[in-house]
Amino acid sequence: MTDTVPTRPNTQPTTDPGVQPGEESSAQPGHVMPGERRHEHLRNYPPVSDWDHHVEHDAKAHPRKVPHSYMLIPTTCFNCESACGLLAYVDKEDLSIKKVEGNPAHPGSRGRNCAKGPATINQVNDPERILYPLRRTGERGGGGWERVSWDDALDDIAARIRKALLEDRHDEVMYHVGRPGEDGFAERFLQAWGVDGHNTHTNVCSSGARFGMTLWGGFDRPSPDHAKAKVILLLSSHLETGHYFNPHAQRIMEGKQAGAQLVVIDPRMSNTASHADLWLAPWPGSEAAILLAIAAHLLATRQVDEPYLRRWFNWETYLAELHPDVEPTFENFLDRLEADYAGYTAEFAAAEAQVPVERITALAELVAQCDHRLSAHVWRSACAGNEGGWQVARCLWFVLALTGSIGTPGGTSPNGWDKFIPHGPDMPPPHDRWNELTWPREYPISTNEMSILLPHFLAEDRGRLEVYFSRVFNPVWTYPDGFSWMKAMSDTAKVGLHVALTPNWSETAEFADYVLPMGHSLERHDTHSYETHAGRWLGFRQPVRRVAMEKMGHPVDDTREANPGEVWEENEFWFDLSWRIDPDGSLGVRRYFESPYRPGEKVTVDEYYRWIFENRVPGLPEKASAEGMTPLEYMRRYGVVEVGDEIYRQDERAVPDADLAGAEADTAAETRGVLRTPTTEDSAGPLIGEAGAIGVRHDDGTATAGWLTPSRKLEVYSPMMRDWGWPEHATPGYIRSHVAAKNIDLAAGDLVLVPTFRLPTLIHTRSGNAKYLNEISNSHPLWLNSRDAERHGLATGDLVRLSTAIGYFVARVWVTEGIRPGVCALSHHMGRWRLHDAEGSRWVSGLVDITHPDGEDSFFLRYRGGVEPFESDDPDSKRIWWTDPGVHQNLAFGVQPDPWSGMHCWLQKVRMERAHAGDRYGDVWVDTARSREVYREWLAKTRRTTGPGGMRRPEFLMRPLKPVRRAFRVEP
Ligand code: SF4
Repeated sequence: MTDTVPTRPNTQPTTDPGVQPGEESSAQPGHVMPGERRHEHLRNYPPVSDWDHHVEHDAKAHPRKVPHSYMLIPTTCFNCESACGLLAYVDKEDLSIKKVEGNPAHPGSRGRNCAKGPATINQVNDPERILYPLRRTGERGGGGWERVSWDDALDDIAARIRKALLEDRHDEVMYHVGRPGEDGFAERFLQAWGVDGHNTHTNVCSSGARFGMTLWGGFDRPSPDHAKAKVILLLSSHLETGHYFNPHAQRIMEGKQAGAQLVVIDPRMSNTASHADLWLAPWPGSEAAILLAIAAHLLATRQVDEPYLRRWFNWETYLAELHPDVEPTFENFLDRLEADYAGYTAEFAAAEAQVPVERITALAELVAQCDHRLSAHVWRSACAGNEGGWQVARCLWFVLALTGSIGTPGGTSPNGWDKFIPHGPDMPPPHDRWNELTWPREYPISTNEMSILLPHFLAEDRGRLEVYFSRVFNPVWTYPDGFSWMKAMSDTAKVGLHVALTPNWSETAEFADYVLPMGHSLERHDTHSYETHAGRWLGFRQPVRRVAMEKMGHPVDDTREANPGEVWEENEFWFDLSWRIDPDGSLGVRRYFESPYRPGEKVTVDEYYRWIFENRVPGLPEKASAEGMTPLEYMRRYGVVEVGDEIYRQDERAVPDADLAGAEADTAAETRGVLRTPTTEDSAGPLIGEAGAIGVRHDDGTATAGWLTPSRKLEVYSPMMRDWGWPEHATPGYIRSHVAAKNIDLAAGDLVLVPTFRLPTLIHTRSGNAKYLNEISNSHPLWLNSRDAERHGLATGDLVRLSTAIGYFVARVWVTEGIRPGVCALSHHMGRWRLHDAEGSRWVSGLVDITHPDGEDSFFLRYRGGVEPFESDDPDSKRIWWTDPGVHQNLAFGVQPDPWSGMHCWLQKVRMERAHAGDRYGDVWVDTARSREVYREWLAKTRRTTGPGGMRRPEFLMRPLKPVRRAFRVEP
């Protein structure tokens, strides 16, 4: 932890909330939360010693004093990826959950939450949530459902999976996850089943940014140390909605209060930009040019960290590949690097970005003064918007390296240094399968699964799915080209059985065969760890009523006993399903779901986590013992444990002598010094990439861990890009976006649409069931600069038709100076709809009709009405005053996969015109035949190839569910 004391305005009572004025506080001033040093702000929370019995007076009974006794049970939030700590107030009388607040013991969130954390209580109590397993009756999407028992649903699903495994149809089983919210568990059941069926949402989210960073060091995300930074450089909206929103936001403000300069690069005036010392609003897609101009300035003025670059850049390879005639010295490298980037002048960047050149120069000079304390982040935004957007992340990392800010206090580390993933007992080994529905040949270097193309691959008969799990995932609404998803999901020949694992209705669940209710963050177990700062922690999500019941002497065998209705938790679901797939153990699946303490019997969640906490979390047994607890009791008490603090420069971690003993150093030029231990797995194959690598020996004789690239260095020249057919992009560079200014004809009505910005108070699908959040955010304006509005003769409130490559939608204009000219923006959270009255959250969605006015390929969505009050057990549902469900713009976007990273390039070239006669707000029309053409146009940009040795994919690139090495090679 840092020593910085947060100095935010005190919005919490400064005494124990259960204490009346004049009464004595029960807080123990001497108590220090685990993982925390003593901070004044901890007095804002009930002391841990009171958590089993905390008394508060009923606010509604005021001025009478009516006490209520609560048990405070920690868990973690599931409403974005940050997994902030939560503390649930469970009423000891009736076991109802009264409210949810922050958990002060959590080292990432430190007791604080955004609005979405406390709103978890709405999701739990929502009258619209799904409480029982449902089975489809009638045709898919027809709205017919019947209640089914868990046993019947599980038996059916298990029988189909078992049959697929027995018939060697492993690739027909797929698990497609939206918000994972956990680390390490999905790998267990998929590897145990032997299927390569892991699919994610990452290529609509972050695969562009991940790719740009991975090219440098093999890690795929940054972990900025904002609180100690001198300069904070953000290319997304981290104070309001960016990655690790609340944990980062509080540290950014600490950094600012300590004097850091905040720079924001965003075409839209976000809340973050409003706090910036310097805001640049560039033409979308020009961000890499700006960063390269900074790099060129640093090189030209030699304000670079030469010792760092000499030791950690693979500069010999850079020279050998690009300047083979030059003597290979570091000094020559620096000279050549400077010359190679000299063309990226401030003037060039200013012209690309269409911002004043003085702003670029000022930014470059500011960065040059950062004293190794440049903390930076780019997530979604430019990397997720543009063809070649991954170069933005790569160029940002270039600037970080040049300034010597990688892994330093106040700098930026790779995520893996600040993340900790323990696995459970007897982890199943990797399999040897390769599913080309998710890892197709056309995208050999894609960061993640090519999930946006699944409907098109199914339409081309590249495969079919026997069992498809969608899990906290709503592609019909969240993804581009949603009508193609709807078509695929409706086709029982393509998708044999669709099982939606979800806490609430969604546009995708409407097309499922089973809808199985899964718990919210107060109703399930998970472990997870995220890079919120320069430390490491392991969070423990838990079903709070179950924990309270057990503490009060009521044993619980199954989380369904403690949850509302028949809502379950996924871990117990997967344990049970896996046993049913392999009831006698003959498939070799069941053994991975047996108790480590009771051989041959089904593992319980208590046993699973007990084993992890006792065996896989360094320091936890000792911390627990110091408080007289078992490790599991400790985690149930605090909901988190800190496993590392003040973590910096892990690249310089010495390779242990024991590991060095059997290691040999490579002598090949590009991997010189890489230390390897013999690898036995598939040893007939060539040693490529990181195979067996444990570190690198430097010229000075030291042996350190280094990076995860084939060279164990930071690769300023990427041999991988060369070997996989892209030598022209082997170094950091600038790729003009598909929406570069030269492609946009403003006079003809073109604009760039930014459809990706988030609202800080909404969650993708699940905020539909959070009434507090819908009351805060319930309108969907199209941001339009006044110059563009004037050119089009538009005013706030006017309806416009925005045409894309595959269709159009109708939105309502908001004229503002908060967005740069030439660009319009529509937040990606709204436009929720339902086909049938009972299938969706009425807090947020409108009923729609979907018709086919021009043949079966054409789709037209029109709202029958807006959001309206409704009758329910919650009297607030009658008080709904808002009406706007928004515009489902994603339906009108064709798939635009970046040819390298596979990231969907979200930014759209649109043509804007006044709404036509008969157009209505929220209308969407799409030609899915055209969307197939767009798919083929973008597919044609790829270079289908294999790498050295016939490899399908570079080994060092991350891959969820990584198979054994031989699966990487295409069979001759
Ligand atoms: S930032 Fe907000 S939504 Fe995200 S985990 Fe924290 S409290 Fe939950």
